Amino acid sequence: MDDKRVLLAVLAHPDDETLGVGGTLALYAQRGVEVHLVCATRGEAGDMKAELLEGFDSIADRRESELRCAAEILGLSGVHFLDYRDSGMSGSKDNDNPQALIMAPVYQVAEKVAHFIRLLRPQVVITTDPIGGYKHPDHIAVHQATVQAFVLASDAGFQDGLPPYQPKKLYIQTLPKAVLRMVLRIMRLLGKDPHHFGRNGDIDLASIVEEGNFPIHAQIDYRSVAEKREAATACHVSQLDGGPPRRGLYSWVWRLFGGKDQYMRGYPPAEEGLRERDLFA
Ligand SMILES: [Zn+2]
Repeated sequence: MDDKRVLLAVLAHPDDETLGVGGTLALYAQRGVEVHLVCATRGEAGDMKAELLEGFDSIADRRESELRCAAEILGLSGVHFLDYRDSGMSGSKDNDNPQALIMAPVYQVAEKVAHFIRLLRPQVVITTDPIGGYKHPDHIAVHQATVQAFVLASDAGFQDGLPPYQPKKLYIQTLPKAVLRMVLRIMRLLGKDPHHFGRNGDIDLASIVEEGNFPIHAQIDYRSVAEKREAATACHVSQLDGGPPRRGLYSWVWRLFGGKDQYMRGYPPAEEGLRERDLFA
């Protein structure tokens, strides 16, 4: 009987493991769970200031080192790359790169994820939501591939040299909608356009709040490890733009409502009103 507890997060970019689900990962690592990350890309899309690249071969190299810094602080047991390229936000030239994650057929990405599921044998798998959190095409691609992989891993017809394995649970992270709705209201009060949110104005917050009305089946209170999440955030220097992320208004709202990661349960199907406090329950 193998009673080792393993959690696997399948995500798109360096920083998703911290800004997305960092509290959850740190909490379970602290509880003695073996926590692994499969990261589809190295976040190489976009530009980076020259000084940030000093001592690094490339943007990918810099961002991988930031991820490894965060992984260490969060207490991850392993970081595994799928070696796709960051597809960038919708409409950017990175979309068309032949190595881009979104250029790969979903089944191919799913096979790679299924291989890691069989190799690591997690009871719990977590990934991003069907609209990719804030509609990043890579988040959507990772969601689709992970849902397929969850099934594929237990299918004896899929042969990768490892025995079939069926994880017990699949969770899909969703953004806290109460926080988003609050931000939306405040932005409107301030006369700001909620269709162009974020540092680059490329996040359509209004449509996320509209479409992303997913049920919440599990809520993980990570306040006991919030400092680890903050410290891991500080590793992602290239994404902080000279200051802490989500500074200003958004940061304030986040702090007010933060400290909890929210999930929809993908498998087993959730009964209505389910509200779990532990993903391993
Ligand atoms: Zn991301």
